[in-house]
Amino acid sequence: MHLSEILTHLGEWREQYFGAVAPPVIQSSNFAFRTLDEFRQAFTDELKYPVYTRGNNPTVEILRAKLAALEGAEDALVFSSGSAAVASAVLAHVHAGAHVVCVQSPYSWTHSLMTRFLPRFGVSHTFVDGCDLNAIERAIQPNTTLLYLESPNSLTFELQDLAACAALARSRGIVTCADNSYCSPLFQNPIALGIDLVVHSGTKYLNGHSDVVCGVLCSRREVIYKVFESELMTLGAIISPHDAALILRGLRTVELRVQRSHDSACRIAAWLEQHPKVERVLYPWLPSFPQYELAQRQMRGAGGLFSVYLRASDIAQVENFLHRLQRFLLAVSWGGYESLVLPMAGFYHIPGRANSSRPWNLVRFYIGLEDPNWLMEDLAQALQAI
Ligand SMILES: *Cc1c(COP(=O)(O)O)cnc(C)c1O
Repeated sequence: MHLSEILTHLGEWREQYFGAVAPPVIQSSNFAFRTLDEFRQAFTDELKYPVYTRGNNPTVEILRAKLAALEGAEDALVFSSGSAAVASAVLAHVHAGAHVVCVQSPYSWTHSLMTRFLPRFGVSHTFVDGCDLNAIERAIQPNTTLLYLESPNSLTFELQDLAACAALARSRGIVTCADNSYCSPLFQNPIALGIDLVVHSGTKYLNGHSDVVCGVLCSRREVIYKVFESELMTLGAIISPHDAALILRGLRTVELRVQRSHDSACRIAAWLEQHPKVERVLYPWLPSFPQYELAQRQMRGAGGLFSVYLRASDIAQVENFLHRLQRFLLAVSWGGYESLVLPMAGFYHIPGRANSSRPWNLVRFYIGLEDPNWLMEDLAQALQAI
């Protein structure tokens, strides 16, 4: 289906909503039936029919249809956060005594799920270097049920060869799950490469306006039903109809936004790479990136996120650089209009944070939708602090 068809028409059922051009916000917790027969019918399938908004809400259903199509999946579920989507996808595929093989530097709360949460229920894990397929294969145990991937990750951007990982896991009867937040569905579709489950933090590009936290899970229909009936309905981490409508608004422009971020980030990353105060730039779309060829093979773009090792002699120089930046906001997350900077030095004094061991001269940038020349002017003057 054409991307424009998905973003404008798919799932909108306008004839039910007075021809509304914008998707309607059905802000109702429950739905009434005209007859007992209709009521009984709806109860046979609470994902399909609106009975109660924890199960099905018409605004959320429009969003599910579009997100599934964007990922080339049969169906999708939407959650109240990316972390809820990750946790639900993982919990649905483990049991007491099971083992997960997971990439070694996943998103911090995915790391916490593996190390602090799952062990309470008798689920063990092995972290592996996802760049090395042999290491993944060696980590597989007889009780491994899930291979958890994040390609690229959102700080140093290591990739996994998704098609090779999917083939390996399938040959051992292991389910694969990939966090695709970095690329968005615009630039990578893991399901087409054989991955079973795709999760997103919809907080990032899908919403794209820094005002909603949400998560997405895409998969085959029977997997979606299984997760719906257990994790989604039981844990209840649903998105509100109003937030779903905001994501639908964000999706109308997702193609323009992600492409603009990508184009600006390519320019700025290439310029920074040549700058004397910069030691190294990590960005999968730069030819200097260690896995550049794999990125070109399985991704269609890289978006607005890259990291820089500053050529600073001490942490004070990094801090001066950060204080001089005027046009980047000092903030976590990414995917909105506003360009952001996230320094590892900022976590340096918080013991136990997954990223407190990162090099202090590593700084992550998110390039938003502002004029890239205007952003480069700011970077140029701030780099003089080093
Ligand atoms: C932000 C993020 C998450 C978590 O999503 P939330 O919406 O913040 O819960 C998971 N994975 C990646 C790669 C992320 O960037």
